[in-house]
Amino acid sequence: MSLPAELRPCPRCRKAAAPAYAPFCSAACRNRDLLDWLEERHVIPGPPVENGEAQGH
Ligand SMILES: [Zn+2]
Repeated sequence: MSLPAELRPCPRCRKAAAPAYAPFCSAACRNRDLLDWLEERHVIPGPPVENGEAQGH
C-alpha cells in the first residue's frame, strides 16, 4: 500500500521519480512544484484582514 517515494511517478510529469528529488523526477520538476505552491500561498483572496481593532466598542 505504501510504496517508497522513489518508486512513485513524478506528480508533475509522471516519469519515474529520482530518490534525490523524491517524489519528483528532477530538480526542475521539484522547483516548478515549489514555485506553484509559493504562488498559491501568495495569492490572498479578498481584502487582507487587519488585526488591530479587537478592543470592543
Ligand atoms: Zn518530473
